Amino acid sequence: MAQGPSYAYFQGKIVPIAEAKVSVMTHALNYGTGAFGGVRAYWNDDENELFIFRPLDHFRRVLNSGKLLMIDLPHTPESLLNILLELLRTENYRGVDVYIRPLIYKSSAVIGVRLHDLEADFTMFAQPFGSYISNEEGSRVTFSAWRRIDDNMIPARGKITGAYANSAFIKTDAALSGFDEALVLNQNGHISEGSAENFFMVRDGVAITPPVTANILEGITRRTIMHLLSEEMGVPVEVRDIDRTEVFVADEAFFCGTGVQVVAITEVDHRPVGTGKLGPVVRQLRQLYFDLVRGKIARYRAWNVPVYGPQA
Ligand code: PMP
Repeated sequence: MAQGPSYAYFQGKIVPIAEAKVSVMTHALNYGTGAFGGVRAYWNDDENELFIFRPLDHFRRVLNSGKLLMIDLPHTPESLLNILLELLRTENYRGVDVYIRPLIYKSSAVIGVRLHDLEADFTMFAQPFGSYISNEEGSRVTFSAWRRIDDNMIPARGKITGAYANSAFIKTDAALSGFDEALVLNQNGHISEGSAENFFMVRDGVAITPPVTANILEGITRRTIMHLLSEEMGVPVEVRDIDRTEVFVADEAFFCGTGVQVVAITEVDHRPVGTGKLGPVVRQLRQLYFDLVRGKIARYRAWNVPVYGPQA
């Protein structure tokens, strides 16, 4: 597999990765005042092409996270996509799937916690990347003892770097206890999401996912999955609060996100979910999703942005 990254977009241009360095005094490093994205690009062997999945939606969310942090950069989703295309062509990744990390951050080298009167910058790098969770067809999950950050503490709808300390506590306690992932309750005691992925369960033929007001990240995969379930699979989607114990009586459950893609949850706190094996809805959804992101479903090609173009 190709190594990487070799380059980064940093301070307005593409530079060798070794030159993409910030000062230890950088505001975002000290206070968590940055926001990032996680985008994937998938290699399509038949077409000899790398397709980025829904990049404009990702960049829109990055810029919206910037709004929350009072970061106002002279960029649009389109200008960020152009930078990404240039970066990926410079890396010239072929035959591999790629994970892309855009990051906006308060770049001033000053002491003082605040959002205002600070400079900001944008950086991005991309590297080859495979699975995020290894047990994709049967993950074992626990309910975290940690609670999800609340909108009135740090908004979960923004991908704010400092807020990921919350996710780090959640993930590490689950992993060190032998679980693949954790489900996290919000301040109301309802399910919000996983440490870095959105949550769905299936009960009696209906897919159910928490609302954007449940302290979740407004996931782009979540939106894609809602569409695939209702439009392609004929599975109705209900958006509502989910009680902790509903998962114990669900037929199927899964996580979704750019990183995890679609991962079946087959056990929660030592109780099997449904049969305790990969179920039919998640099986079909995984198939559809991987075809979709690789650019293999013609009617969704607007979501697949080619990196190299027809001359590749
Ligand atoms: N929730 C959290 C906390 C995340 O970090 C992610 C990963 N970006 C997601 C959900 C999934 O979001 P998306 O589908 O946009 O990648």
